[in-house]
Amino acid sequence: MTVIDELVNVKRPLPEPISFFEQVNRNFDKAAALTTHHPDLLTLIKNCNSVYHFTFPLQRTDGSIEVIHAWRAEHSHHKLPTKGGIRYSLGVNEDEVVALAALMTYKCAVVDVPFGGAKGGIAIDSKKYTPQELERITRRYTYELVKKNFIGPGTDVPAPDFGTGPREMAWIVDTYIALSPDKLEGSACVTGKPLAQGGIRGRAEATGRGVAIATREACEVEEDMKPLGLSRGLAGKRIVVQGLGNVGYNAARLLEDAGAVLVGFVEYEGAIHGPKGIELAKLWAHRRETGSMLGFPGATDLPCREAGLELDCDILVPAALENQVTRENAHRIRAKIVVEGANGPLTSEASEMLGKRGVLVLPDHFVNAGGVLVSYFEWLKNLSHVRFGRMEKRFEEQAFRRILTAIEGATNKSFGPTEVAAITHGADEADLVNSGLEDTFVSAYHRLREIRNQHRGPARGGLPSGRAGRRSGRDRACRSAGRRRPASVPRR
Ligand code: NAD
Repeated sequence: MTVIDELVNVKRPLPEPISFFEQVNRNFDKAAALTTHHPDLLTLIKNCNSVYHFTFPLQRTDGSIEVIHAWRAEHSHHKLPTKGGIRYSLGVNEDEVVALAALMTYKCAVVDVPFGGAKGGIAIDSKKYTPQELERITRRYTYELVKKNFIGPGTDVPAPDFGTGPREMAWIVDTYIALSPDKLEGSACVTGKPLAQGGIRGRAEATGRGVAIATREACEVEEDMKPLGLSRGLAGKRIVVQGLGNVGYNAARLLEDAGAVLVGFVEYEGAIHGPKGIELAKLWAHRRETGSMLGFPGATDLPCREAGLELDCDILVPAALENQVTRENAHRIRAKIVVEGANGPLTSEASEMLGKRGVLVLPDHFVNAGGVLVSYFEWLKNLSHVRFGRMEKRFEEQAFRRILTAIEGATNKSFGPTEVAAITHGADEADLVNSGLEDTFVSAYHRLREIRNQHRGPARGGLPSGRAGRRSGRDRACRSAGRRRPASVPRR
């Protein structure tokens, strides 16, 4: 057992649990300490400008009446509109929406999107409601936001988050436009909409794509990979993903396409491990067929979800929920790189513990900013009422064709049909969105890396060994999750 393992295993009284917003503010304070801004200005930035908590009744299909609790927080009115997702989860509360709204402010700044941060949520388990009930909840939520001026193209623009997607965004835009029929720019009141309702190509997978690009960029820097004992590039890197929702699934798919090996998954129903690689498409089909990832041929079911996070791997992508790696399990994380796909999956203390062990942590306010970036493109598209690429695509194609014809004439050689098609392809909406996303992420990553190196020196590497300590710790975690560790768990 290493000194660090001993230190973290010492029985110490736990501090008072600190709120999610406090976690975000701790990280803010760490960064703020490195700036020269006036403390009053920093306090101003940290505070949340407005929070709206409201309740409304839902008459369920069986006739019973339920009281629904909902929130919208606008963290910073410094730049308008404010922007941030809406989450449907039983865990939603005021602290959570305020913390997530604050993260949105910082996220928009990191990827240079001119919005303040916001977040909304409804405290429901969406799996327990029929689509009709969910539609009533969403429309009533939108109505309440309209009433209090907490939604609008120039005021506050929601988007999907945990438990919501294009369907909910379609209900929101429809309700908003019904209530403000004369607003020409009404469809810009929400992003993440289906294409037919003013959405944009590439939005659905944008956050996952951003996660994959951030991971790829980090792995491309040989100087940072060496101290971690890793080679340069994504190819062959062993990855564990937590959460196979919008963010996790798309990130996993793109990382797999880029040559990484998916060796573990953690979902609501449990965790699985396949050290030789788990093919995502096959796992997806298995889950659709059986309703669970568990029992997937070629992988081992782990005793509990927590064990999945602690698998031996190169990269861990927690892309489900906040507070997944805390001071309790940070010392058992074996990944050398942790990519925060979700918002706040690492507590501030866990992040520090991993950093001290030389683990490279890519932070959420950069890593999952792809969603808000492409939402910004969608908002611009809605305001301009024209699809990106509509004016120039054909013109570009004809110009490229003329150049090819001129080259063919000058060289007396002809291009083949595949070459012609590739060279004369004019950029359409999806091309432009992905190009904007890639360009922003690549430059933001290298800017962040420069700042990190300026203040902390390049990434330190090398994980301490201390296997025994970690294994016994994992057993404890599984027991506390109320399950026994079966003999089939692979040895590492
Ligand atoms: P989602 O609802 O599409 O997916 C979440 C997934 O996590 C689901 O498959 C769910 O079953 C799984 N899950 C729930 N509890 C779990 C647990 N305890 N262990 C393992 N898996 C669990 O949500 P999403 O949109 O993918 O969002 C995931 C995270 O990413 C959230 O923190 C969200 O705030 C953040 N985020 C999302 C977006 C976006 O564009 N959707 C943008 C930025 C950040």
